[in-house]
Amino acid sequence: MKRKHKTKTVYPPNWNELVAAVRMRSDGRCECTGECGLHKGRRCVEQHGIYAQFARGRVMLTTAHLDHKSNTADISKLKAMCQRCHLRYDREQHAQSAYETRTGSHGQPKLPFQ
Ligand SMILES: [Zn+2]
Ligand SMILES: [Zn+2]
Repeated sequence: MKRKHKTKTVYPPNWNELVAAVRMRSDGRCECTGECGLHKGRRCVEQHGIYAQFARGRVMLTTAHLDHKSNTADISKLKAMCQRCHLRYDREQHAQSAYETRTGSHGQPKLPFQ
């Protein structure tokens, strides 16, 4: 399979460090405080690696971009979110990213799984 190697950096070079920093700050718990629209004003109870209370299977914290820019290097704009919150939170944005997916960037994971 042929793939053009364009070096378009979607994530900052220190993305792994940012993710680690966010994860550290979150203490392994979803940092969503209602951004997803499900639990307004309260912090999500889901914790990484344990069985989710509101979803099936184990919680996998992902890193959400509050400003919806995937190349931000500012951890104040990043939040650790469980898959449920993240999905909800990104839903509005999905109309757009689904469009982008259809128009070329398929095969790229939308979000890294950490
Ligand atoms: Zn959550
Ligand atoms: Zn939430």
